[in-house]
Amino acid sequence: MAQKIQKPRGTMDILPEQSPLWQFIENKAHNVAKRYGFSEIRTPTFEDISLFKRGVGDVTDVVQKEMYTFTDRNGDTFALRPEGTASVVRAVLENGKTSDTMPLKLYYLINCFRYEKPQAGRSREFFQFGIEMFGAADPSADFTVITTANSLISELGIKNVSLHINSIGCPECRPKYRAALVDYFSAHKEELCETCRTRLETNPLRVLDCKSPICSALAKDAPKTIDYLCDDCKTHMDDLKLYLDGAGIKYEIDTKIVRGLDYYTRTVFEFIADGIGAQSTICGGGRYDGLMSQLGGPALPGIGFAMGITRLILAMEASGVVIDGDEKPVIYIAPLGKNAVSKALSVTESLRKENIKAECDIMSRSLKAQMKYADKIGAKYTLIIGDSELETGRAQLKCMVDSTQTEVEIDSVAKYIVS
Ligand code: ATP
Ligand code: MG
Repeated sequence: MAQKIQKPRGTMDILPEQSPLWQFIENKAHNVAKRYGFSEIRTPTFEDISLFKRGVGDVTDVVQKEMYTFTDRNGDTFALRPEGTASVVRAVLENGKTSDTMPLKLYYLINCFRYEKPQAGRSREFFQFGIEMFGAADPSADFTVITTANSLISELGIKNVSLHINSIGCPECRPKYRAALVDYFSAHKEELCETCRTRLETNPLRVLDCKSPICSALAKDAPKTIDYLCDDCKTHMDDLKLYLDGAGIKYEIDTKIVRGLDYYTRTVFEFIADGIGAQSTICGGGRYDGLMSQLGGPALPGIGFAMGITRLILAMEASGVVIDGDEKPVIYIAPLGKNAVSKALSVTESLRKENIKAECDIMSRSLKAQMKYADKIGAKYTLIIGDSELETGRAQLKCMVDSTQTEVEIDSVAKYIVS
């Protein structure tokens, strides 16, 4: 026998049993995003590799270790998108959207690819909902982006989640902070993990983010960005806190949150869920005022977030959220004998056109087996059409819920159905 082929490691099949949950989340995401004034953007699954090198950053794990890259028959090198922001910025620039009325508010629902060690909440193909807002430098934009995430998370029924915010400063105040950080960690260089020893040179902020026990223990006493902010960055953060307080949104200042890339500025935030294991960041976001110009565009400020859908699902499960499965058929039509098949098919077809979920036999089952099947799929009504029904044009509509029968005109059966 031929060997069965399996899905690639770290990918998933979303089966019919699970898709109502995915659709529920996707519908909510579309709904919340649009309510907050964001419009959908769709970009290619793969992009020129240099977009991510420049847009995500050459020295990040994502670019150095996690990208799926390939060279096509023409010799051009591409990467499957590891995230959404770089592509959105590229599309905004390429399509001249920077001259639209500001703010420009976009959202996306995409699959992303990263070569990572698969585990709960971490896969190689994963799905993100994200939003990006361009043109608004004010902390009220940060507030809007954070509340969009907050609303979706709460409308999905996720409890036990906390909002962590931090500010990582700007090109004016970050160098001073960076120097203090390098000083601090250099004194402990021998204790750092190998990756962090390199990070100390290339991207020292990222050391704060390291999950290894020794590095994270050292990070606890490291200098904090918020103690190094310039006046403008400090005011920005104070105003954001004021707006969040004003709206009654709880948060904690978490100085460990960094997004060690040069284009990130000021606000960074995460929503962290309890009870879903080590991969507990369900949403990560921040301000990236330097990205647009880094990708060759005007110096337009930007801020956004991305959420991992599988982590949202884990958090929903931990919160006891249950989503109804697919809608059950309203009516099952059972032809009895060859002559009735054509009538059953045409009645089913016209009911479907009237927006009624109808099923009929296409398996040549016996009447008994058909009734068993109708019961199994949970049809609310059944209608049996045999020779005498064909002759009179009338049949018994049986309600499976209360076992009542009503004689109906077959061609007008829709009139008698209460769905
Ligand atoms: P992580 O802490 O998991 O490494 P990250 O900082 O790499 O996260 P981002 O690039 O900010 O993640 O992506 C935003 C969100 O996308 C994350 O908060 C998470 O919910 C989700 N995500 C990231 N990588 C994966 C993955 N490999 N599998 C599933 N979800 C992911
Ligand atoms: Mg990661």
